[in-house]
Amino acid sequence: MLISGATGLVAAAVPALASTPRARTEQRPDRRTPKRVVVIGAGLAGMTTALDLRDKGWDVVVLEARDRVGGRVHTLYDPFTTGLHAESGGESIDDGHYAIQAMLKRFGLRTEERPPTKPYDSAVYYKSMREPLAAFLSRSNGKTLSDYLRCQDAMAALGDGIDPQHPERARNAERLDAMSFETFVRSLHLAPEAEFLVRLQNRGEYNAELRDISCLFVAQQSVAAPPSLDGQGLTGTETMRISGGNSTLPVAMAKALGSRIRLNSPVLRVEHSRHGVRVHTPHGHVDAAWCVIAAPLMPMRRVHFSPTLPASVARVIDDLDLGHAAKVIHEYAVPFWKAEGSSGFTVTDLPFAIAWSSTDSRVDTVPGLLTQFITGDAAMTAARLPAPKRIAHFGAQLDRVYPEGKPLQASNTATMAWANERYTGGGYAVFKPGQMAPFWPVLRHGFGRIRFAGEHTETLAGYMESAVRSGHRIARELGRAPR
Ligand SMILES: Cc1cc2nc3c(=O)[nH]c(=O)nc-3n(C[C@H](O)[C@H](O)[C@H](O)COP(=O)(O)OP(=O)(O)OC[C@H]3O[C@@H](n4cnc5c(N)ncnc54)[C@H](O)[C@@H]3O)c2cc1C
Repeated sequence: MLISGATGLVAAAVPALASTPRARTEQRPDRRTPKRVVVIGAGLAGMTTALDLRDKGWDVVVLEARDRVGGRVHTLYDPFTTGLHAESGGESIDDGHYAIQAMLKRFGLRTEERPPTKPYDSAVYYKSMREPLAAFLSRSNGKTLSDYLRCQDAMAALGDGIDPQHPERARNAERLDAMSFETFVRSLHLAPEAEFLVRLQNRGEYNAELRDISCLFVAQQSVAAPPSLDGQGLTGTETMRISGGNSTLPVAMAKALGSRIRLNSPVLRVEHSRHGVRVHTPHGHVDAAWCVIAAPLMPMRRVHFSPTLPASVARVIDDLDLGHAAKVIHEYAVPFWKAEGSSGFTVTDLPFAIAWSSTDSRVDTVPGLLTQFITGDAAMTAARLPAPKRIAHFGAQLDRVYPEGKPLQASNTATMAWANERYTGGGYAVFKPGQMAPFWPVLRHGFGRIRFAGEHTETLAGYMESAVRSGHRIARELGRAPR
């Protein structure tokens, strides 16, 4: 049934293909098809799905557009002094990110710890003045800190009554979804310094301007996030990286999957029926019982679905964007910030907004790296600049904050603007006002023989942890392969 259904579908949809001898060969029934799942994307989500399904007896084929695995987990080694590396995408793991930690254990990979006090040892550069975070928080007789905490409490309260698995079912779901996070923050009338911190922190967290974030999404995330030890979101978060670079994890996963992964295989077309799918790449097609789309939705907009997907599903693919994120990474002969008692973690009112030391989990390095993490509108500006200009533009801002670092700068720099990546399109998912309530059920249920995995489909969104969890979830849903 499955084979004849899928074959008929192709013949109807692609008559030119069906008339060639090669196509006739490809349409020959394949006994393994009812046990096959095709996964689009060899990021953490796709490869977790594939590993779990393989263990459940499925025949898995992973189609990956790029010539490498890992997607948004991509360690940069080349431009830096030998032995140094930096993460162009997913970087830190939190204490409560158990699924990725279990995956690391499975592959015998170790983590290296970032300093637990790094947020407290931050520098704040605000209105052309640099000072330690503690001094900044005590401004206005402590109102900066008390207003910052008031906002954290208000954000936590947003999550009251929200089931992160079904945020759309909350009594106030529509009202919260219609409200932008911008409106919410404004309504709190925070002291200017506190508002600066809140905006900066959340722009980084959601890689979007506050006007582009649904309050229902914020509410869901506030419930889904593991509780931090200090109640301020400062401890227990961003505590570790993978030793040797985060890319070692996707590389290990790919090794375990072997020839099940096909690189340089961008999916162009997905034909689907109630029996199965036929997924086309430039090299041919794969028939399967299920298709798991484990790729961000922005590149899926170039994929042709036949028959056309229902409007509710097509709208999610067309409209659920990734936020904007870019990084610029600079090498220094010595990590000068350490001598100043700083962790290198820096927040500023300059466009780049946030920087940290990418070498703060290393004990063995003399040179140091500072990474500028640029989000929201500034990341769009970054994406429009060619790499050398981007490095110069944002590097000049870093020099304003740390003029003493300029003479120590090496020529080794790197940058990544994720909006320019054809098979990604941005940083990580953000639900705009009005999108969470209608989009969430579609993402969680999929359509027919199509399922969605990826960080954007998890209750806790935006992390490597999210991607791994989503892969486990989809594999659980598909269950054991049919006999
Ligand atoms: C700048 C930045 C900083 C981040 N920082 C952190 C952090 O500190 N901590 C953290 O936990 N997370 C962080 N993240 C998020 C984390 O990296 C992602 O949530 C996670 O890696 C997403 O994995 P995924 O498998 O869902 O998607 P992806 O990694 O995007 O994988 C999807 C795959 O699909 C492939 N693909 C796309 N289109 C097609 C097609 N047509 N055909 C075939 N294949 C296709 C892509 O090439 C890609 O390999 C960060 C991300 C960015 C961008």
